[in-house]
Amino acid sequence: MRYVSTRGRAPVLDFEQAMLSGLARDGGLYLPETIPAFEGLSDLDGLSYEEVAFRVVRAFTGESFSDDELRGAIDRAYARIAHDARAPLVQLAPGHHLLELFHGPTLAFKDFAMQLIAQLFQIALTRSGQRITIVGATSGDTGSAAIEAFRGIDNVDVFIMYPHGRVSEVQRRQMTTPPAENVHALAVTGHFDDCQARLKDLFNDHAFRDQVGLAGVNSINWARVVAQIVYYFTACASLGMRPTDFCVPTGNFGDIFAGSVAREMGLPIRRLIVATNQNDILHRALTGGEYRTGQVEPSISPSMDIQVSSNFERALYLAYGQDAGAIRQLMDELKAGGFTISQGALQTLREQYLSGRVSEEETLATIRDMRERTGEILCPHSAVGVAVAQRHLEPGVPMVTLATAHPAKFPDAVERAIGIRPALPPHMADLFDLPERVTRVENDVDALKSLILDRRTQ
Ligand SMILES: *Cc1c(COP(=O)(O)O)cnc(C)c1O
Repeated sequence: MRYVSTRGRAPVLDFEQAMLSGLARDGGLYLPETIPAFEGLSDLDGLSYEEVAFRVVRAFTGESFSDDELRGAIDRAYARIAHDARAPLVQLAPGHHLLELFHGPTLAFKDFAMQLIAQLFQIALTRSGQRITIVGATSGDTGSAAIEAFRGIDNVDVFIMYPHGRVSEVQRRQMTTPPAENVHALAVTGHFDDCQARLKDLFNDHAFRDQVGLAGVNSINWARVVAQIVYYFTACASLGMRPTDFCVPTGNFGDIFAGSVAREMGLPIRRLIVATNQNDILHRALTGGEYRTGQVEPSISPSMDIQVSSNFERALYLAYGQDAGAIRQLMDELKAGGFTISQGALQTLREQYLSGRVSEEETLATIRDMRERTGEILCPHSAVGVAVAQRHLEPGVPMVTLATAHPAKFPDAVERAIGIRPALPPHMADLFDLPERVTRVENDVDALKSLILDRRTQ
C-alpha cells in the first residue's frame, strides 16, 4: 500500500516508513492513495478485539509486517488494557451507548493507538538497527500514553512537550514519574498550540530531523489513525452492523477521522458528529465554512483545548478531491490566521460530519445528570460528547458516544460537577507518591534542539 502526502511534495512511502516518519517532509500528512474496502463485515460479531484489530490493521500495513509480527504486536499491546472486551459498549439510555476507551494504562483512548505503534516501532527498529528520537506535543493524554508505551523500548528516545501548568495533575504525573532513562517530559512555557507549532518547526528542519532520526507519534501519525479505526468496527459488530451514528469528543480530529475511514471501508456509519468544547474552531468551520484560529480558552476538558486541528487537513484533502495544491494554499493562508473553505468542499464536509459545541456549564450539568440517571461517571471530554449526542438521538438509529478518558484522570472537574473525586484504579494507586522528573523549557525551537541533542541516550 502506498502513502501520499496531503501537500503532494513528499516522497510516496509504504506503511512502515509513513509510521516511522509521522509528518511528511513537505509539512503534510500521509494518507493511503486509496482507502481499502473491508471484506467480511458480517463475520466480526463475537470475535476478540485482537482478532478484529488484526483484520482491520492488516488492510493498511501492506508488506511492512508479516501476519505473525502483526498478531504478536497486537496481542502484546492490548494485553495491557484492563478489560476483557478492551473497548466495552455500555448503554446510557434507549438507543444511546457509550464506548469506553479508557481501560488502558493511562486511562485515555490514546493508549489504543500508542500501545500498538510502540510494538510496531520495536519490530521495525530491531529489524533495521536504526535509532530514532520521538518528539511529541501533548495537551496531556498523548504524552502520557506515549511515555507509558515507549518507556524501555530499545533504540528510541522520547521527548514530550506539554504546556506548563495546563495539564491535570494525573496527566502530568503520568508523564513525569516513569523512571525509564529513554523518556523525557518537557514543560513548555505556552499553550498546546505552541507545543504543536514547535514540533512542526523541528520536523521542518530537515538537517536536525536527519541528525537525530526524528519520528513523530502525534495524532497526525497515520499508524495511530489506523489503530483507532478498530473500535468503530467492534462497536458496529456489537450493534449488529446496522446503520449507526457516532459522536466523538474532538480536538485534533484524529479519532473522528478514523471513523470516517472506517465508513469509507464499508462500515454502516451514518452520521459522524464532531463534539467540541468552547474551543470550537471545528464547529465554526463545519457550520460557517470559516476556519479561523483564535485564542485558546482553557476549559475543564483540556485535551480538546486547541485552535489548530491537525488531522482536519486530511479531511480537507479528501473534500478538495485530493488536490494537494489547494491544500498547500489553504495551509499558507492558515499561517496568516485562517481560510474560507470552498463551497464545494464545505458541502462535501457537511455531508460527512455534523458538529456541536458545549459550554462549560453544560458539560458539568451533563456529568451530574448522567450520574443521577445512570450511575455512570463521565470525564469532562466524554460529557461534551454525550451532551452533543443527546441533541441528535433518533429513534431506531443507535448512537455511540466515544468515552475518551476515565473520570479519575480529571478529578477536579468531576468533583465540581458531583462533589465526588473519582478514585484511580488500583494499578495506579501510587501515582501521587512517586518522584517526578521534568525539564522546564522556553517556547523556542533552538532551546528545544539543544536540549534534545544533550539528553539523547545514544
Ligand atoms: C486527545 C483527546 C481527545 C481529542 O481527540 P482527537 O483525536 O485529538 O480529536 C478527546 N478526549 C480526550 C480525553 C483526549 O485525550
